Amino acid sequence: MTRFSFDLQGTDGSARTGVIHTPRGQIRTPAFMPVGTAATVKAMLPESVEATGADILLGNTYHLMLRPTAERIDRLGGLHRFMNWDRPILTDSGGFQVMSLADLRKLTEEGVSFRSHVDGSKHMLTPERSMEIQRLLGSDIVMCFDECPALPADRKRIEESMRLSMRWAARSREAFGDRPGHALFGIQQGGLEEDMREESAEALRAIGFDGYAIGGLAVGEGQEAMFRALDFAPAQLPEDKPRYLMGVGKPDDIVGAVKRGVDMMDCVLPSRSGRTGQAWTRRGQVNIKNARHADDPRPLDADCTCPACRNYSRAYLHHVFRAQEMISGMLLTWHNLHYYQDLMAGMRAAIAENRFAAFEAAFHAARAEGDIAPL
Ligand SMILES: [Zn+2]
Repeated sequence: MTRFSFDLQGTDGSARTGVIHTPRGQIRTPAFMPVGTAATVKAMLPESVEATGADILLGNTYHLMLRPTAERIDRLGGLHRFMNWDRPILTDSGGFQVMSLADLRKLTEEGVSFRSHVDGSKHMLTPERSMEIQRLLGSDIVMCFDECPALPADRKRIEESMRLSMRWAARSREAFGDRPGHALFGIQQGGLEEDMREESAEALRAIGFDGYAIGGLAVGEGQEAMFRALDFAPAQLPEDKPRYLMGVGKPDDIVGAVKRGVDMMDCVLPSRSGRTGQAWTRRGQVNIKNARHADDPRPLDADCTCPACRNYSRAYLHHVFRAQEMISGMLLTWHNLHYYQDLMAGMRAAIAENRFAAFEAAFHAARAEGDIAPL
């Protein structure tokens, strides 16, 4: 049986490329993980998600524990079978979403009690319960249960929160136990403070994990501050294990994070913006709602090989968005996920060939040029 392992294959500056091996298949890094919140990447069939080049999906513990419940998914054969995705799945711990979505939250040393935003029912998430839920889901990469404040927050709040998360990381490790083929990732906290990030990294290294996430970023601090933290945070984590930056981001955030040594990322942005008429292309963002597209027979991106660009015009994409047809969200989500995976593949090749700096310069130059001129 394949065990979980990470094979670092090449570096270029701080940027890294490699392969994560799991019993459910390989994950090429740097990797972007589409978000399948409620056991679906909205508007996409799983086979379509795979066709975009995704090796792994993210599932949300908070949403799935409330509906349809982890116990029901377990009875039905686990999350992979339930949602018809047989490749790797990473699940978050529920910690972040319980703090942002649930009602009447109460945070204690034990965990977080809350009421469901769906039906008002009472629940408690603890490190032990989060590990149990992620095991019932059958997740390949399990995340430690943690807590993080939105930024800006004062140093004392960040410190208390980080230390609580480190105590929860030890409890998560204990509760996870020994599960060959499955991985448990620790989550570094500490806001934007280098010394607190180091304290957190040291605590996680002492416990020992299969991979390490950088948590508590992309929570309102802005790109410049995030990049400053990423100038030191990845290097504080073990070099021979995957590093995962949670909840990032826009294409330029992703390129900047990879440059600084991040191996994995996830974000709802490409799928969510696909449903609101926003397309991400190598020339930047395109708002398909704009009237300039109404008579435009050209594809969204002539160089893109996704179905939306190969088979449809900007005029059609504009029309179906305005007419609120379901195919609008389907096509734009497909395009956006395809673009994100293309970007990751481009970075993997550039790092392997030691030309990441040139790749990055070309990436920014194409965006600076902007969208093709109106007809
Ligand atoms: Zn496309």
